[in-house]
Amino acid sequence: MERVLSVKAFGALAALALCGCNVASASQAVAKIEDAQHSDAMVRFGKVCEDWDDWDKPTEPFKIHGNTWYVGTCGIAALLIRGPEGAVLIDTGTAKGSEAIAANIEKIGVRLSDVKAILGSHEHFDHVGGLARMQALTGAPVVVGAGAVEVIRTGKDDPRDPQAGLHDPMAPVTGPLTAAADGEVLTIAGLEITAVATPGHTIGAMSWQWESCDTSGCRMIVYADSLSPVSADAYRFTDHPDYVAMFRKGIARLRPLECGMLLTPHPSASDMLARARTGTMEGGISCADYADSKTKALDARLAKEAASK
Ligand SMILES: [Zn+2]
Repeated sequence: MERVLSVKAFGALAALALCGCNVASASQAVAKIEDAQHSDAMVRFGKVCEDWDDWDKPTEPFKIHGNTWYVGTCGIAALLIRGPEGAVLIDTGTAKGSEAIAANIEKIGVRLSDVKAILGSHEHFDHVGGLARMQALTGAPVVVGAGAVEVIRTGKDDPRDPQAGLHDPMAPVTGPLTAAADGEVLTIAGLEITAVATPGHTIGAMSWQWESCDTSGCRMIVYADSLSPVSADAYRFTDHPDYVAMFRKGIARLRPLECGMLLTPHPSASDMLARARTGTMEGGISCADYADSKTKALDARLAKEAASK
């Protein structure tokens, strides 16, 4: 992984070398300065962007932790995981937002041709509407949940989606496209990323888990997909007991995961902006808390439907 040292960091390294300090403490000093610069960029994200902000509003990229970078817009997350043999992108935003995301990838010194795969969360245009464009820019294969493949290939809503009919069609992905199975470990760019099927918000919804390490230690990062029971006006979850059973299974799959740091496709769904303002993404809600809040939301939705029969 290439590392670009700033002039300031070089200065610190030179000063330490002159004072006769050892190389280990010098490189630690550089790492600390780099960490401080990264946390400044993270704080700016928390201040410049607003909760539930515009999906296409560009913002600068920043390091979240270790090998994991935020390259998304103010309103929609996109993550770049950097490995020894390239990088993996998760989510692309909308078709328009994908241009800002591509620019952010280049801003952190990664060539678009170094992106070895593009993973998707769920098959809605705000998160994966830019897949076709990003595939054209990077040449990378797309990997999504099995239940999302048809939507990604055609660009059209799945009629079983509770939100079917609400979305404009997406540009279809015509290049390499594969489905990840629940629990499958993808080995790409020298990284290992685990697919965790969390259906409910959509049928093909996929969460992703990987380990990130930096000077403060290692964290298991979980990019937990949306699990909110949102639908078109006429849709009733109570009319679809099999769908509800699948939804509960998706929430239950997420709940016990090792989850040192939780990130979400909508940054505000896990208070990422508030966390950013503290200069670290540490200390957010757990996967268990996230899962429990989604069970509550689903139960409330079902109770509301039952009451309005
Ligand atoms: Zn969605």
